Amino acid sequence: MSWGSQLLDLQEVENGLRDSIGAYKQIQKQLSETTPERQAREGYEQAIAAEREARARQQNLNLEWQGMIQKIDEEEKRLYSGEVKNPKELSNLQLEVEMLKKQREKLEEQALALIEEVDEWTSRAAATKAAYEKVEQDQRDRQISLEEQEKKLKRQISIRRAQREKMLVTIDPTALEQYRYVQRLKNDTHAVSTLREGVCTSCHIEVSAAKRDTVERVNSETTKLVTCGNCGRILVN
Ligand SMILES: [Zn+2]
Repeated sequence: MSWGSQLLDLQEVENGLRDSIGAYKQIQKQLSETTPERQAREGYEQAIAAEREARARQQNLNLEWQGMIQKIDEEEKRLYSGEVKNPKELSNLQLEVEMLKKQREKLEEQALALIEEVDEWTSRAAATKAAYEKVEQDQRDRQISLEEQEKKLKRQISIRRAQREKMLVTIDPTALEQYRYVQRLKNDTHAVSTLREGVCTSCHIEVSAAKRDTVERVNSETTKLVTCGNCGRILVN
């Protein structure tokens, strides 16, 4: 195998390795992302906390209402018992009963509003719970698929690393140096370009017949490398 094609193989492996490492990093980043799940969980937790709080208020209101009923009952009993004879006292008692009844009505209105509020939080808690469970399941599925991809990429990376190591010891150091030089010069991942029908496949410029001949000879005789006169890449057949 000529130096040129050895370099072309190396280029393929190195570019493949770079891609695998990039994809691997991407996967790891995705694996650490839990934002949708966290948001859904927080939404659910907020809804159940609000529901709990509304129910507690409802319970307090209920107790207050029961106390009120009892008090009204007692005052009414006193009012109609005939025990209170003083007209002034009697009328005060009557006024008090009326006032208590008004307060009771107010409490009943509040209780009705609270029933609606509790209902609303209950259904919101159910909806956010369902949403959270869905996100959680999706996340789990996504996690499994990402972990599979991660494993595959890890294997791919170690295979490509081994290939690269093996290649590096067989490639002529001068050829390798020139390859690295062109890589830096072009500042990209393609330092080797193939010739197709006399045209450099990287820059699409036709190469002179003399150069074409040299490339063909170089490949069979494994001597010096030829570069494209236009883009400077190492040419191989
Ligand atoms: Zn070129």
